[in-house]
Amino acid sequence: MEFQLRAEYAEGTTPPRSGEARDTTWHMTEAGEARALCGRDLDPASETRPAEAWGTEAAESFCRSCGAQYLRQGQ
Ligand SMILES: [Zn+2]
Repeated sequence: MEFQLRAEYAEGTTPPRSGEARDTTWHMTEAGEARALCGRDLDPASETRPAEAWGTEAAESFCRSCGAQYLRQGQ
């Protein structure tokens, strides 16, 4: 199964052009899905990153629930 990271923006902020926003939380979703592994529904228009970015500075800060679920998937 393919996974990707999807951004959740803090309430009231708009998606940044640079991708270097503060107040962004990254979640893990199945590829093409807007629902995170933790159960949170994310904006389908929000920014995504390859799953390989997980654990790197590009995915700070990362949802702990999604991280636990992702590990449970045996990836
Ligand atoms: Zn999450």
